[in-house]
Amino acid sequence: MVLFADRIHRIGTENAFKIGPHIVAAEGESSRLVVRLNIGEPDFNIPEWVKDEVKEQIDANNTHYTDPKGVLSLREVVSQQMNETRGLQSTPEEVVVFPGLKPAIGFAQEVYCNPGDEVIYPSPGYPIYESFTRYLELEPRPLILRESNAFSFCAKELEDIITDKTRLIYINFPSNPTGGVTTQEQLREIADLIVNKCHPDVRVFSDEMYEHIVFDGASHLSIASMPGMRERTIVASGLSKTYAWTGGRIGYAVFPTVEEADVFKNMNINYFSCTSPYNQEGARVALTHPNAAGRIAEMVSTFKKRRDYLVKRLNTIDGITCTNPSGTFYLFPNIEGACKKLGVFDAFDALDEAIKEKTSPATMVQMFLLYRHQVAVLDRRSFGVIDSEGQHYLRLSYAANDDDLKEGADRIEQACQDTKSFQTFVNTHLHLFQ
Ligand code: PLP
Repeated sequence: MVLFADRIHRIGTENAFKIGPHIVAAEGESSRLVVRLNIGEPDFNIPEWVKDEVKEQIDANNTHYTDPKGVLSLREVVSQQMNETRGLQSTPEEVVVFPGLKPAIGFAQEVYCNPGDEVIYPSPGYPIYESFTRYLELEPRPLILRESNAFSFCAKELEDIITDKTRLIYINFPSNPTGGVTTQEQLREIADLIVNKCHPDVRVFSDEMYEHIVFDGASHLSIASMPGMRERTIVASGLSKTYAWTGGRIGYAVFPTVEEADVFKNMNINYFSCTSPYNQEGARVALTHPNAAGRIAEMVSTFKKRRDYLVKRLNTIDGITCTNPSGTFYLFPNIEGACKKLGVFDAFDALDEAIKEKTSPATMVQMFLLYRHQVAVLDRRSFGVIDSEGQHYLRLSYAANDDDLKEGADRIEQACQDTKSFQTFVNTHLHLFQ
């Protein structure tokens, strides 16, 4: 008899949530506050008009179970906005609301895939795509996003991994963790490939969570707008990032058919019945308020200034090179040079094979930065483990104030020069990698 079912050993996680205890431990060891560049949420608050609506709804006792598909007033707004921005012709019946976008990601694998079916997802990418594949006994097929391609991908790369068993393809632009966006040309070629090569029942899950956080005149493009794609694409987004409302737990998706939307509604019924009605009404107001666009533009302009600062700063550090992404609030610097300088590759090679499987040179740098230099970032493996070997990157979130960004960059610079203490750190902190 064993306590846990086998599948529990196969599910992954999201390290952005798991790093918390390490931050506490690092602060305890050093008596210095950690600069947090690990956080995947905007450091802004929701506008007054959203707060007011939520409070009014609670005062009016709109606190009961509600339509598991989502309240109609919100689904109407989502459908209308999706139609306006992506040229869809959706109806509110094709829209489902979830408590955050995350549940829809796992549900998609449960709904569309049988054991043995193949799931394609970007890597580095949002870790929940990969996490569910093994849990559900599906075959993970990471689509490696390369720095040389501005962390986008071209149709040929996708074509190489599509097979008769492909059932579901995740696409995420602007991308977490790289900030990469795709070009219209690339997206058109990808769409043409899918239409020509995949069975009509193969689904594309287009995770457009960061749709509004784009810079340098780039505008968000959805694959659902491409010819032949509306009927194959689940277009997903939510309030967590654009409206700085991660705690509101409001995500939504538009499905190709009402039949599919109803299956996802039934998943909601099975897992959580419904999403909180007062927050759904708050989300409706957030999406439709006349000042919403202005508020988003302010936030995006702040993010752009920070991006410009941090990209420039990182590129002055010996051992780090950083591309200038056009979206999100993340940077994905290449730290190969720093790994060489600090002796990380040698330290990694000297580890036991069993430990090596659980870590990577970038993970070792992540821990060195945290415990020795008190700056929290995430490693490449936090965004997909399979086939991640040889890719030496970190994710930095610039959802932090200017002082923290400067202090964080200073500490990273000092860490990259701290060649003397890396090996001692590994010797004293081996438990972190086991
Ligand atoms: N998709 C991407 C690409 C994300 O980065 C996130 C959150 O970090 C999510 C989905 C999940 O968002 P939510 O907090 O609404 O569940």
